[in-house]
Amino acid sequence: MSTKTEKFVEVRGRWRLSKGASGLVRSLLATAEYFFKSRPTTLYPYEKNKLPEAFRGVLTYDIEKCIGCGACILACPNNCLYRRSGPKTDKNKPGVYIAFEPTHCLFCGLCVDACPPVSGALSHSSVISIVSSKKKVMWEPWEWAAFTELIKEKGWEYDAVDYDRVEPLIKRKAEEIKKRLEEKSTGGKK
Ligand code: SF4
Ligand code: SF4
Repeated sequence: MSTKTEKFVEVRGRWRLSKGASGLVRSLLATAEYFFKSRPTTLYPYEKNKLPEAFRGVLTYDIEKCIGCGACILACPNNCLYRRSGPKTDKNKPGVYIAFEPTHCLFCGLCVDACPPVSGALSHSSVISIVSSKKKVMWEPWEWAAFTELIKEKGWEYDAVDYDRVEPLIKRKAEEIKKRLEEKSTGGKK
């Protein structure tokens, strides 16, 4: 007769490990096996996975390339793109730019597909998401352009961006970009 606490039981005259004890040994062996195998997970945020080339991250906006056609606004299924007027930097451009709500974006990429190749103002970055304690984040065109330039300057690739922390940086850079556009529109004359 065996009890639950016994490690060995007698079966047909031979002593064997009880069910509980053999289960324990099997699980210890499985643990030992994974101890020597390479890790299938990444120690985020200390290690970052390389994302596929076609990864659809947070949208970037090249304000200098935008021709203000509005095709992206029509393509957006979630109404997170808006028309704004701004300095007219080129006689062939209407002085129309695009504002963006990154926290409402679906990352679907329909606006990128709609953006005419002659412009190529929109693309996906490898920034995974924008996180914020704010219910709604709205980027005026110069702020969106500032975010785009800061990605490279600050190395925000393959990561989520904490908007509450970087907001002052984006606002400061946006002022520089707006000034740059105004100077371009007046040809440097005040
Ligand atoms: S990725 Fe999709 S949801 Fe986001 S702005 Fe473009 S069209 Fe709209
Ligand atoms: S589709 Fe491209 S070029 Fe046209 S307004 Fe949108 S971002 Fe600018």
